[in-house]
Amino acid sequence: MFATPLPSQVSSTTPDYPASLEEVTTDLPKLAIPPLLGASVADLTAWVQQQGQPSYRGKQLHQWLYQKGVRSLAEISVFPKQWREAAADTPVGRSTIHYQSVAPDGTTKYLLRLADGNIIETVGIPTPKRLTVCVSSQVGCPMACDFCATGKGGYKRNLACHEIVDQVLTVQEDFGQRVSNIVFMGMGEPLLNTDNVLAALRSLNQDVGIGQRSMTVSTVGIRDRIRQFAAHHLQVTLAVSLHGSNQQLREQLIPSARHYPLADLLAECREYVEITGRRVTFEYVLLAGVNDSLKCAVDLANCLRGFQSHVNLIPYNPIKEADYQRPNGKQIEAFVNVLEEKNIAVSVRYSKGLAADAACGQLRASQ
Ligand code: SAH
Repeated sequence: MFATPLPSQVSSTTPDYPASLEEVTTDLPKLAIPPLLGASVADLTAWVQQQGQPSYRGKQLHQWLYQKGVRSLAEISVFPKQWREAAADTPVGRSTIHYQSVAPDGTTKYLLRLADGNIIETVGIPTPKRLTVCVSSQVGCPMACDFCATGKGGYKRNLACHEIVDQVLTVQEDFGQRVSNIVFMGMGEPLLNTDNVLAALRSLNQDVGIGQRSMTVSTVGIRDRIRQFAAHHLQVTLAVSLHGSNQQLREQLIPSARHYPLADLLAECREYVEITGRRVTFEYVLLAGVNDSLKCAVDLANCLRGFQSHVNLIPYNPIKEADYQRPNGKQIEAFVNVLEEKNIAVSVRYSKGLAADAACGQLRASQ
């Protein structure tokens, strides 16, 4: 009885949320609720009314879902007992923690079990001022990048909106601390799952309360999708995984680069900057003897000349499925120097969580 879809016309009692993410939701297919997680106050209000309840219960449900993190409507003590019992089995959309491991730096890797039994990885990364969650957007990943454990494990399916929002609530609860930042750098390619990622961004911003500027979506580049993403004019940061400063190198590392040449990707990134006025972050995994030469650094600087960008160098994190090496500190420094001399904004990201196999590229659905 609770599986009825929402009416297509939902009366909007929208509070003062940023306009752009409101607009995003009107473009998207309606969320099928339940599962309830990921739904806005307006959607939840329409749903409770459909269940014969007064409209103010929508706001209450919203609060209990996102602030108290209930896993069943039976837990909502402000609801009448009879309805609580009748609605106890309504799917809320929460996962269960199947396994977790904590690295000495506090970075915590979670294997989460979804309702259909699939397992995904989520990582909580604490620093003195922040708690960042690295979320997955798919079960596995179809992109098969040669240095990435997720890509080696194959692909199963896209995650639904509620499965993305759940990851953030799970980390928040486990740390007992509010999440401040979100990066879509876990398993999967977010721009192959754009509708659910956009719906999750809306919910994380408006329902969970995380600022758009504190969220980053990372993509390896899917033709036309960066332009489409830009059209939403979000304040979210876009990170593009480049890894190679010429077409041949990119093809060697990223199979999909064959169908989407570097020149086209960079042209689309330039459009993104023009449309949004926001700079793009370029991620570049440093692999010793493969893409870390000073010539590569010069080529990279040339690719990005006159471009509002920031380069994030990620020294390779070892995975058992691949035979690459991390460059030594001297080589990394020399690479950085070339970029800096050419006025490219650059930082080196030493991944946290190495000891728990929770660092960039090490995510696979196993312990
Ligand atoms: N599919 C998206 C998001 C997931 S990967 C993307 O490709 O951007 C998130 C980041 O981790 C990417 O920049 C990716 O290239 C990087 N990464 C993957 N494997 C890595 C490894 N073994 N060591 C270091 N970084 C890695």
